[in-house]
Amino acid sequence: MQVASKIFGELTFNKNVMREKLNSEVYEKLISTIQIGKSLDETIAAEVAHAMKEWAILNGATHFTHWFQPQRGGSAEKHDAFISFTDDGQVIERFSAKQLIQSEPDASSFPSGGIRSTFEARGYTAWDPTSPAFLIEAARTRTLVIPSVFLSWTGEVLDIKTPLLRSMRALNKAGIKLQRLLGNRAAKKMIVFAGPEQEYFIVSKKLYDTRPDLRICGRTIFGASPEKGQQMEDHYFGSIHHKVLCYMEDLDLELHRRGIPAKTRHNEVSPNQFEVAPIYEEANLAVDHNLQMMDIMKKVATKHDMVVLLQEKPFAGVNGSGKHVNYSLGDNSGSNYLEPSASPMKNINFLLTLGALLLGVDKYGALLRAAVADAGNDHRLGANEAPPAIMSVYFGEYLTKLLDEIEGVSSWTEQSMANISMGVKNLPKIAKDYSDRNRTSPIAFTGNKFEFRAVGSSQNPSEAVMTMNLLVTYGYEVLEKRISEEKGEIRERAHVVLRDVIKETKRVRFEGNNYSEEWHAEAKKRGLPNSRNTPSAVEAYLKKDAVKLFESHGILSERELRAKVEIKLETYTKTKEIEYRVGVNVARTQILPAVSKQIIMTGNALRKLKECGLDSKLLEADLRCFESLYSEIHERSADLEKILNNGHNVKSSLEHALYLGEEGEKALSALRNVVDQAEKVLSADLWPMAKYQELITAI
Ligand code: ADP
Ligand code: MG
Repeated sequence: MQVASKIFGELTFNKNVMREKLNSEVYEKLISTIQIGKSLDETIAAEVAHAMKEWAILNGATHFTHWFQPQRGGSAEKHDAFISFTDDGQVIERFSAKQLIQSEPDASSFPSGGIRSTFEARGYTAWDPTSPAFLIEAARTRTLVIPSVFLSWTGEVLDIKTPLLRSMRALNKAGIKLQRLLGNRAAKKMIVFAGPEQEYFIVSKKLYDTRPDLRICGRTIFGASPEKGQQMEDHYFGSIHHKVLCYMEDLDLELHRRGIPAKTRHNEVSPNQFEVAPIYEEANLAVDHNLQMMDIMKKVATKHDMVVLLQEKPFAGVNGSGKHVNYSLGDNSGSNYLEPSASPMKNINFLLTLGALLLGVDKYGALLRAAVADAGNDHRLGANEAPPAIMSVYFGEYLTKLLDEIEGVSSWTEQSMANISMGVKNLPKIAKDYSDRNRTSPIAFTGNKFEFRAVGSSQNPSEAVMTMNLLVTYGYEVLEKRISEEKGEIRERAHVVLRDVIKETKRVRFEGNNYSEEWHAEAKKRGLPNSRNTPSAVEAYLKKDAVKLFESHGILSERELRAKVEIKLETYTKTKEIEYRVGVNVARTQILPAVSKQIIMTGNALRKLKECGLDSKLLEADLRCFESLYSEIHERSADLEKILNNGHNVKSSLEHALYLGEEGEKALSALRNVVDQAEKVLSADLWPMAKYQELITAI
């Protein structure tokens, strides 16, 4: 048996190791870089590199790699051995400060959205000391992994981590400035916390192997609805299947060894859908850990003959998978500005932080939508299972009353609030919101944090956190400016400003059912953006105001934003093309042959009957039905193929993406429709791949 506290973080170059391996001065300097955000004192790099190498080699490492987050998604690594030749030709293990701090992968094939061509200077990676180095294991040796950012030589952003780190800097500046105005001298650094709840599906490897769509696209392109899907609602929080629990045990162990604080595990809504959630951490680390977690989840599954699906919508007709990102912020004193405390009405930081987010969502909500836009997540957002693409904030009854009181539209009495808390004395006043929170809202206040629910299960949550940071930064700046311009006692000034903010931002508050038709109509009336798909969502980055927001806070330049949009469109287009090609190929090479075998079988049966002097109208009708399925599948495949070919005649990348997203989806769904009909009537023996019912119930 493994005790978590004994093995936790054993594969990381964590504080305990640092304290042991570094002299105290170097240790202090490194810790202040990590905790207070001081820039790295490069004179200590040599000693840190030496200590890291010693520790890594002692633990069996032969190689090191900078590990970074290219814009294509996921993570990237290129390994180098520690070996080096001495002057007299001996092989020794060497790892210099320079190798720790910087690396130059020939990374010319990563998408740069036109920022870098292959013949231009290469990109470089630079150590991010705020995220601990760790070891990855193979059969016999280990590799030292150094979390890094990825930039071009001209300093342009090529990754997803850099904007997050920059947004932290911007938020820090705006947050501390507001704190000073409020008279807080103690706050030195703003800290953002994130807790990403990770949903996923498990399928048996044997069944998975029968499905080219799952193997290639990570989601099924075809598949008739199962007889028993999630309608009984008996999976959610149900008793965990023994085999899955064995997997989860192994997974938690590996996560803990890597210092990833996995805490919660449970069955999710759809059969074979599960969730793992860690204890929240500082945002940058939480993001790095989430990326590692997704990788570890897949690797551990292979040992159990299972495959983990992280795609947002692997199966039509049952729930998709998201990644609720819990977000809170505070300062180095340990305070959480989203903690309402026993008297939220007097808690000015709390109220201003709510106000800041409201200002941000009101003006730049479309950027939040854009941050979670990709081909996979489009299937989920807007379906009746995930928050819609319309960004609104849910506060719950208690906080709504409180905001109404500040606005002056309702009166707030201890009694009315007590009624909401149902008179439960020993619970914090806000606790009721824990129980009646609205699961349909994309941005819900849940106790002492906001839960941003629109993030897709396979996505890097970094972009969502970066955008939340940016929105709050914008809000803090507006508040700081407005409060400075008011006269009087600081708290009164803050309340006056808050009253206006609450009035102005009302359109982004919604307490009702976000899945309902009424909300879509209402949101339209309120003028809230609602982008159906990725190509239309990412346009938000190029709006004048958005460019100004990103540029003025030093997050991304206009050129970098254009590159970002280009990469998102290109990734979207490629994903669609791959899916459509798989659709056409599977239909032609697996489904049509199955239908023709069925025609032969039924035709033979009919002939046999006739030979015996019998006849069957029904058998004849079946034969006709199989023939018409054959023709339809044939035609619908040709339609889809035509769309793929026509796509290349479209001029801009935006038009191409839109064309594939709209016309392509229609054609694929028409093809799917007939293929799924065929699945329901063909002999089960002839069906060339595992069906939904098996996929979502067998383990
Ligand atoms: P749920 O009922 O949605 O699963 P939980 O209370 O279990 O909600 O929390 C879900 C996630 O939120 C966990 O990862 C948890 O660590 C994280 N979380 C809790 N408090 C905070 C906070 N103050 N800031 C950020 N994340 C938090
Ligand atoms: Mg949950």
